[in-house]
Amino acid sequence: MRSLPVLGTSIGRDSQEGVQSNARPEDILSSSLDALPREECGVFAVTGVEQAAEATFLGLYALQHRGQESAGICALDADGSASVRKGTGLVSDVFSAQDLESLQGDTAVGHVRYSTAGGSRSQNAQPIVVRYSQGDLCIAHNGNLTNAQELRNRLVEEGAIFQATSDSEVMVHLIARSRHDTVEAQIDDALTHLEGAFSVVISVGNTLYAAVDPRGFRPLVLGRKDGGLVVASETCALDIIDAEFIRDIQPGEVLKLRGSEIEPLRSLPPVPRPAPCVFELVYFARPDSRIWGASVDRARRAFGRQLAREHPAEADCVFAVPDSANSAALGYAEESGVAYELGLLRNHYVGRTFIKPSQADRDFGARIKYNPVKEVVEGKRVIVVDDSLVRGTTSTSLVKFLRQAGAKEVHFRIASPPVKFPCFYGIDMPSKEELLGSSHSVQEIADMLGVDSMGYLSLEGMLDAVEDHGPFCDACFSGDYRAPLVDVERGHTSLENPLGC
Ligand code: AMP
Repeated sequence: MRSLPVLGTSIGRDSQEGVQSNARPEDILSSSLDALPREECGVFAVTGVEQAAEATFLGLYALQHRGQESAGICALDADGSASVRKGTGLVSDVFSAQDLESLQGDTAVGHVRYSTAGGSRSQNAQPIVVRYSQGDLCIAHNGNLTNAQELRNRLVEEGAIFQATSDSEVMVHLIARSRHDTVEAQIDDALTHLEGAFSVVISVGNTLYAAVDPRGFRPLVLGRKDGGLVVASETCALDIIDAEFIRDIQPGEVLKLRGSEIEPLRSLPPVPRPAPCVFELVYFARPDSRIWGASVDRARRAFGRQLAREHPAEADCVFAVPDSANSAALGYAEESGVAYELGLLRNHYVGRTFIKPSQADRDFGARIKYNPVKEVVEGKRVIVVDDSLVRGTTSTSLVKFLRQAGAKEVHFRIASPPVKFPCFYGIDMPSKEELLGSSHSVQEIADMLGVDSMGYLSLEGMLDAVEDHGPFCDACFSGDYRAPLVDVERGHTSLENPLGC
């Protein structure tokens, strides 16, 4: 391990902070440790693109599904000087037209972030922007480091001061404290200390660096826009600015990007098993995106078709829990020949509400979001397809609503295997105890939901359906953790020390 080499002040002319191991899981997942906060994020960056901040705003708009808690854009002008605007809320709430005008330069880095327990501090909004020896440094990170606390403890012992709880700040310190002379070597030095998942965009002055961890947990794509370059978590963010897809950034790859120039830097040490996250295809990514060479829509349809083969049902119609299961339900209908219907409607305008549900109304969360179409379900035998079942709260309520609307039979189908293990690599999952699939059999779950039949897609069926694009990390289904869970094994993690994004 190279030695860990202090950081300047947080900067940003328009900064509005505040407003804005392969160990077996059963050996390490004690109940106190698996209730970790986990975060989901989207990153976007451009270089050599006029009005880079506007392009980044649009890119973040397309990536909003990856994080709704905070958003930020850092723009770099011709001198490499940074301006940043970030805050809590949706992309459309955080940035005004004046903000975008004030974010000058042809290079920009953006980020959307979602977090749950303990992580909703506005200090954690990204990009993180600091001034260090080589100029203004900005970082936007997607994924979870599994050794962030270990690194943080060492850095603090050596005198580093942290402003937030996000593990991305660790990267900033590692770069700033590296004893190497060049920016490239400092970034390389920092990245080789990291364990876990990182798809990251870093700017130093107005040069961009894009890197993906050696296992490639989270997607990161490269595109071209006019005479410049774009980096994004998903291709839907390229489409919105009419950028051309070049390729996925590969596991372990580190690229230096300036204007239209792509310079590959030294790759990170390879690992035997790359591990892109299959849950991106199941739930997280948008169906109009292509990641890892796979169309998300086609992958979900293949899951749905396989689900129909594994768990057929005699029924009058099949419909999705919208919107995340739409493609899978279409696949189920295509394979089974059962009529595809729109049996459940989803309200797209649900934000935070000030109305507190009564204690008795456990269905409030689902009621405000979903409503059955009575004309479709009344007197019918229905197949309902959801992409995944986590705590089971949504499905329990939905089954009740469908019965109230007169459904004669409800056959619940899940287009992925039971989620049994928490994710440590950047997908928000509750603790093991709260994961219904970890403690209950399929029959017990069917009884709890009150359905006529229940069926999950098998792990083999899921992996076979996307085998051309794998191998994948399937830890949430199998418990096979591909990157060592350093902080968990050493007992560092707790709710007070959230892992970063
Ligand atoms: P639950 O009620 O906890 O079983 O949630 C299941 C629903 O949440 C499914 O309809 C999924 O589409 C959705 N879902 C799955 N994983 C996540 C996640 N990591 N964050 C937010 N929603 C999710």
